[in-house]
Amino acid sequence: LFICALSFYSVSWSQSSNAKSAEINAKVSELISKMTLEEKVGQMTQITVTIFEKQGAKGVFDIEKLKNGIQTHHIGSILNVPNPGAPTLQKWQETMNVISGEAIKTRLKIPVLYGIDAIHGASYTTGATLFPQQIGLAATFNTELVKRSAQISAYETRASSIPWVFSPDLDFPRNPAWSRMWESFGEDAYLSSQMAVALVDGFEGDNNVGSKYSVASCMKHYIGYGSTTTGKDRTPSIIPERLLRQYDLTIYQAAIKAGAKSVMVSSGEINGTPVHASKHLLTDILKNELGFSGVIVTDWKDIIYLHTRHKVAETQREAVRMAVMAGIDMSMVPEDYSFYTLLLDLVQKGEVPMSRIDDAVSRILKMKFELNLFQNTVANLKDYPKFGSAEHIEEAYKTAAESITLLKNDKSVLPLDKNEKILVTGATANSMKYLNGGWSYTWQGENSDTYAADKFTILEAFQNKLGEENVLYTKGADLEIEDDGEIQKAVDLAKNASKIVLCLGEKNYTETPGDISDLYMSKSQIKLALALAKLNKPIVLVLNEGRPRLISDFADHMSAVLQCYLPGNEGARALVDILYGDVNPSGRLPYNYPKYPNSLEKYNRKYTESISEGEQNDDAKYEKSYSPQFEFGTGLSYTTFKYSNLKIDKAEISSSDDVNVSVTVTNSGSKAGKETVLLYLSDNFATITPEFKSLKRFQKINLAPNESKTVTFTLNQKDLQFVNNDLKWVAEKGTFTIRVADLNQDFLLK
Ligand code: BGC
Repeated sequence: LFICALSFYSVSWSQSSNAKSAEINAKVSELISKMTLEEKVGQMTQITVTIFEKQGAKGVFDIEKLKNGIQTHHIGSILNVPNPGAPTLQKWQETMNVISGEAIKTRLKIPVLYGIDAIHGASYTTGATLFPQQIGLAATFNTELVKRSAQISAYETRASSIPWVFSPDLDFPRNPAWSRMWESFGEDAYLSSQMAVALVDGFEGDNNVGSKYSVASCMKHYIGYGSTTTGKDRTPSIIPERLLRQYDLTIYQAAIKAGAKSVMVSSGEINGTPVHASKHLLTDILKNELGFSGVIVTDWKDIIYLHTRHKVAETQREAVRMAVMAGIDMSMVPEDYSFYTLLLDLVQKGEVPMSRIDDAVSRILKMKFELNLFQNTVANLKDYPKFGSAEHIEEAYKTAAESITLLKNDKSVLPLDKNEKILVTGATANSMKYLNGGWSYTWQGENSDTYAADKFTILEAFQNKLGEENVLYTKGADLEIEDDGEIQKAVDLAKNASKIVLCLGEKNYTETPGDISDLYMSKSQIKLALALAKLNKPIVLVLNEGRPRLISDFADHMSAVLQCYLPGNEGARALVDILYGDVNPSGRLPYNYPKYPNSLEKYNRKYTESISEGEQNDDAKYEKSYSPQFEFGTGLSYTTFKYSNLKIDKAEISSSDDVNVSVTVTNSGSKAGKETVLLYLSDNFATITPEFKSLKRFQKINLAPNESKTVTFTLNQKDLQFVNNDLKWVAEKGTFTIRVADLNQDFLLK
């Protein structure tokens, strides 16, 4: 009965959703039939109305530019925020009142669509709840929690009257030095897909984007952006289409299936073709093959860059033609309305057909209708009592607590004892901006470290827990500047402490300013670590960084290592609760933490241990060279988990069968804890060299001491497939191995 009721519900739901989309399509067609070419091209234009230049221009929008954009150029969209400063909810409301007021004065009263980089909370509104950055969300391996973070971000962003966020980031970083690594979900495509769906569902309210608590999401940066060869932002990638399909595209496919409303294009180029100029990637694959029916927006000024940077277009006019014909629907920040003027001319001269313009404009208008912007652009603040509330903050705390990853804990140096004297030191120990990372221009601006009084740095969280007088502190090292005096101070203070908590990491950065030429932790920080190591006291290393900065020079001297990523406003509190055992850590590393700069293998590398242990031959040597500092999936707990009874329901399957796998997990220690069960699959022989193993499923469970749970997973045929040289997904006959923790079982595909 229950199943019947459910399927009845889903049938009637899909009928009503079909009826709704038919209604929206009809409204879009009607509106388009009334629009002039100028009005259409205006819809495809997105400008910024921020006053960037004016010093101290806190919370200021360029209202004249905005009015002019709407009245004379019919602009369809605006983006971005005042910098420095983050407006209050009231300020956002006033601004949106002006924007919608201006739009209403236009002939067809089409609302303006406001988009913003609210990527770990409504980070551009004073008092918003800030979550861990995406890399930390991935480390939770908890899709429910991640979805909840997006629901809260959506709620608080809509409270700020902004209906569109430039998130999630679906980049697939192949080089961990990449300056936007932390905006991604790490190195695994399956984990990224699951997390992508959680964020899209959370932002868009499970296909209810018209709700006043939902926002439209924007998948970015389509595609290959995170795979630059150099690791530097916006530099070229080389990615065979086979691999693009095997990994990168699967993440987009999952998010599109979840209903993602828009996509932003990569500023980079793949195999010599800028993505903004690629009809193959934008129209043939994204729109036609994947059936993406939402809006394709460019990244910042990227159409013009086809001429000035990539040099595939001889003129700006040609750049506009190329991008629009490739499939671009909206141009972000075209300088001086050049996009508007040039596109008008191209259409008038027949070089861009009206059908292409109508396709673009329908997509944009459809999104505006779906968001209910025609009815309701400005938030009624009474509807948002939970903005920045204790309830939301608690969710950010829980998410940070589940993201923090314990990578090493020799001789159970952790949890700490409240009675021991602790030295807290290191460049990231007393900073909020480092905890939050980039895209957090909160309150005073990116370079200011002034946060609200109830937000705590790592040092402050220690002081709150132990009392100020019980915590020894000195900065010890700057992120960049070497200062032997400070190091000596840390060494001297450490003599009075029984344990040292050493906080190292990276400055906060966004995009190109985060480019590095050296993946090692900065020299000043290495120097501090080595000086403290000489004291032979237990050191707990706390990493607060967007990407894995190499620590191999001193890692062996560290008794414990925790990766915090960029845990957001509640991160320090969560960290200190973990350090004292009030919370049991349960994060897992979403990438391989490399040991050497020239050894950047992924966990799903090829060829491994085909021979027995100890045997000395070439294979063994090869595998020995694979030695990450910490492997993907690493994450310790204060309790222990035992795996048993790995079972597959069939030893042999045919090409239509599913594979059911079960495994029992027991909490064999003395503390309650959360364990992520990771299921990997190896295809043992294939016509394209198979990966050693690939993650296919995961589930995070809660276990009390002595409690056991049996977890079951179902793999389908798609899970056995890879992309072959004809760019087709195929499963080949032969044996496969299921791996869960240290257990494994084979089955045969007949
Ligand atoms: C970034 C995007 C961002 C956009 C709008 C660009 O520079 O690459 O990720 O969404 O700016 O701020």
